[in-house]
Amino acid sequence: MVDFSLSEEHKGLIETARRFTKERITPIAAACDHESRFPMDVFKEAWEIGLVNPTVPAEYGGSGMGELENAIITEELAYGCTGIQTSLLANGLALTPIKLGGSEEQKKKYLGLLTSEPVMASYATSEPDAGSDVAGIQTRFAQHGDDYVLNGQKCWITNASYARFYVIFATSNTELRHRGIAAFIVDRDTPGLRVGKKEDKLGQRASDTAQIFLEDVVVPKANLLAPEGKGFKLAMETFNQTRPDIGAGATGLMRRCLDECVAYAKERKTFGTPIANHQLVQWMIAEMAIRVEATRLLYQKAAWNLDHGVRDPIVSSFAKAYGADSAMQTAVDAVQVFGGNGYVKEYPVEKLMRDAKVLQIYEGTSQIQRIVIAKQLFGG
Ligand SMILES: Cc1cc2nc3c(=O)[nH]c(=O)nc-3n(C[C@H](O)[C@H](O)[C@H](O)COP(=O)(O)OP(=O)(O)OC[C@H]3O[C@@H](n4cnc5c(N)ncnc54)[C@H](O)[C@@H]3O)c2cc1C
Repeated sequence: MVDFSLSEEHKGLIETARRFTKERITPIAAACDHESRFPMDVFKEAWEIGLVNPTVPAEYGGSGMGELENAIITEELAYGCTGIQTSLLANGLALTPIKLGGSEEQKKKYLGLLTSEPVMASYATSEPDAGSDVAGIQTRFAQHGDDYVLNGQKCWITNASYARFYVIFATSNTELRHRGIAAFIVDRDTPGLRVGKKEDKLGQRASDTAQIFLEDVVVPKANLLAPEGKGFKLAMETFNQTRPDIGAGATGLMRRCLDECVAYAKERKTFGTPIANHQLVQWMIAEMAIRVEATRLLYQKAAWNLDHGVRDPIVSSFAKAYGADSAMQTAVDAVQVFGGNGYVKEYPVEKLMRDAKVLQIYEGTSQIQRIVIAKQLFGG
């Protein structure tokens, strides 16, 4: 049976997230982008009303929502600003591997921390020489008695400047590639861990992105999240669970483009008539509406699969790849609909275009999604 209707709970969740976006995100989005500033007060308020960490199970203090609810929240927050949304929800990337692979003690401690205080956590695979090629990471770990010692560098890490703890992937031996990778939970205040410079970005400027340096960082055995040889699989499974959210963020951004363009096209006149009456403008806007609906169906199916234990990771990659590429095209077209006004900062669409670009880069580029999809098609 197929049922596309939303439950009363879903409608209520959309209403709450939509109101929060309208009142707390949209009004400050342009200023936060301009100043490259993350509004921590907004994070705290979102945490208070349950929009942060929604998928933490009830036994660890969370609301135990599913991936579908998480994605619905993502779409709504992204309508206001994908930069703020990315940072508000990036805990999901750090808590997912703990949910998937953590011991009971680790879940109690770290998921419990996320639900007892408005704190942030980051997830770190990427390095200066290993982004797409996760198996090629250079950050090393070595076992010293009951402890592990980490050395290396991570980069482009969302919320690294604010995180209270990090999920960090490292290898015992770079030649082993994926077979050498383990994962660790590393507390922010561990000696030897240093957060580097915050990146000055093209888009999603409200979201914090920074480097992490690890110099002889001693991690107790209790914080080993995935042993050698299991870390790579944990990283990939995490992406399988979080990629639908990129589709959801893309949907929110496209919906915003669509609304801005419909309103503008009715007002702006050329050749004596609103541009909404020109078929070539209508065509661009109609395409936007198609992409919104198609991406939403994909991310909701991917999230539904995850919530119902249906293992079909290709759909997560469809949602991510199609959503990211659609968002980029839609934002480029939104600038086109606005003409010269689209190119200046007084109007909202140039920011949407800058913000959309990273959807095609983080959590596996659009090219990597095609590789993941093709591997599943060819059974590789
Ligand atoms: C704002 C932002 C936030 C981020 N947040 C995080 C985070 O929280 N945690 C984290 O770990 N990382 C994070 N990242 C890093 C992100 O995941 C990587 O940038 C991304 O995976 C791409 O890696 P790369 O930049 O090294 O590009 P590269 O891997 O160097 O790729 C460069 C280009 O080559 C293409 N390419 C690479 N390999 C292939 C191939 N085999 N076939 C075809 N094309 C290929 C890519 O698609 C891309 O177009 C973030 C990045 C940004 C920009």
